Amino acid sequence: MPETEEPQAPAAPEQTSPPEQPEEPEEQADQPGTESHDDPASIDVVVNKARPLEPADYYPADLRSPNVTTGPGGAGAQLRAAAAGAAEEMFAAAAAEGVSMTIVSGFRSYDTQVSTYQHWVNVNGKAGADEVSARPGYSEHQTGLALDIGDSSGACNLSACFADTAAGSWAAQNAHRFGFVVRYQPGQQDVTGYSPEPWHLRFIGKADAADMYNSGAKALETYYGLPAAPDYL
Ligand SMILES: [Zn+2]
Repeated sequence: MPETEEPQAPAAPEQTSPPEQPEEPEEQADQPGTESHDDPASIDVVVNKARPLEPADYYPADLRSPNVTTGPGGAGAQLRAAAAGAAEEMFAAAAAEGVSMTIVSGFRSYDTQVSTYQHWVNVNGKAGADEVSARPGYSEHQTGLALDIGDSSGACNLSACFADTAAGSWAAQNAHRFGFVVRYQPGQQDVTGYSPEPWHLRFIGKADAADMYNSGAKALETYYGLPAAPDYL
């Protein structure tokens, strides 16, 4: 740095104790209870019907395609780098135990969600669409931290019976070891706003995922102490 741009040293304060420094939020981002649940770029972000992404058209900076088997609709699926690496670990561990797993959906942009949601409105009407699909700007898939998994047959992909497949059962018991949680569990619709989706996994990091699993909390809202979000405000 040129000398002319060196910052001026502040005048020595009269006080004998050091001045109080405000805490930098970034320094505490990894400590429980101080996560940045509002920041769409945070691993700890919580998106639900009461917590839209801000900005609504947020687009992750570090997307890549994980090197895993793709199922119907999953070709070219992308996740943020940390989630992609964790997915590769998880799929490999499942395969090593004889469980085949596919990715059928990953990141979805705001514009894609416009089309997806409109499709369900056309099929089910708005109230019906709201039970199964997020409105644009409210989808966890837009964070790049969520993926939908399937199994090799695909017969139960994106269906309730996926919970009973080898892949669904394995994920429910093991996903937390790789930093993922089953985001929409049975009996949690009043908290998460969604009917059960045993295929939808959300990356929150290994420490939090294991802690949530062991705590018995069945919704991210419960685990992070955030209000239930049964419906749009
Ligand atoms: Zn999903």
